Amino acid sequence: RKGTAVITGASSGLGLATAKALADTGKWHVIMACRNFLKAEKAAKSVGMSKEDYTVMHLDLASLESVKQFVDNFRRTEQQLDVLVCNAAVYQPTAKEPSFTAEGFELSVGTNHLGHFLLSRLLLEDLKKSDYPSKRMIIVGSITGNTNTLAGNVPPKANLGDLRGLASGLDGQNSSMIDGGEYDGAKAYKDSKVCNMLTMQELHRRYHEETGVTFASLYPGCIATTGLFREHIPLFRLLFPPFQKYITKGYVSEEEAGKRLAQVVSDPSLGKSGVYWSWNNNSSSFENQLSKEASDAEKAKKLWEVSEKLVGLA
Ligand code: NDP
Repeated sequence: RKGTAVITGASSGLGLATAKALADTGKWHVIMACRNFLKAEKAAKSVGMSKEDYTVMHLDLASLESVKQFVDNFRRTEQQLDVLVCNAAVYQPTAKEPSFTAEGFELSVGTNHLGHFLLSRLLLEDLKKSDYPSKRMIIVGSITGNTNTLAGNVPPKANLGDLRGLASGLDGQNSSMIDGGEYDGAKAYKDSKVCNMLTMQELHRRYHEETGVTFASLYPGCIATTGLFREHIPLFRLLFPPFQKYITKGYVSEEEAGKRLAQVVSDPSLGKSGVYWSWNNNSSSFENQLSKEASDAEKAKKLWEVSEKLVGLA
């Protein structure tokens, strides 16, 4: 049978390119888990995916109710779940004030981390039941959360501190930042990516042996053309792609990045669990090192426990 992969945020950018790359192999049925049903349908058509290769299902990660509803709806289809890709993200680098999810969490961390945290915990049960030979759960990370890299050292740097802001609910009353500091949209995004990478490793430690599921994260390269930068100032959007292409040389096309993530989904040589994958300039994959904070096991455990409380799992 074909494998079934759920990809969040498959209506544009990396998620769409990955859905397309998987569909093109003829070995995958992709569930495009998207907040905008029509946009996702149009996107799938625009890249030439054929109807039998995908299903669009509604998921708004900025609402925990929607996450639960999505899981119920997926279960009702009685398909097996073989791979989950947590890809969707929001980035608000120019926001002066925080915005909030349905449950009142700061939007970037609420969507990118807490929404995916609940989704991955619930769908782990479904992954366990699948008889697919190589079951995987992937959470897209980023270089920007890794302060051991040049890109990760561009201020404001990611820093979760002692998680005091998260523990107090990230609701803007005490703070809307994980470390309890002043709101900064760019930092909130980077912090959320650190959470994604910590969560992947904690999942690996807790569940890999017991379930056989492969847990992985990745940095696909700088995909400077995606919608992620839609809220940035126009000059930035104009100059960022050529800057990445010719100066840093970190640029990858959406198509190439999609192929990379598709490898993490299905390539037998990328089946190791607990790995943060990256690619070098000739597009070969390697196991990359995470920053000190993004590989801090104690912080990962604390993040897990605080997040469980916030999403109502504990
Ligand atoms: P895009 O903005 O193109 O894609 C983000 C996707 O997330 C969109 O499909 C968007 O939906 C979806 N999304 C946003 N909010 C929600 C929500 N509340 N519920 C459901 N879906 C939502 O950006 P990218 O493709 O660049 O980003 C994909 C991933 O790649 C992210 O995890 C990002 O952190 C990561 N990444 C990107 C890099 C880059 O250079 N671009 C570099 C490293 C990592 P909609 O279409 O409706 O807006």
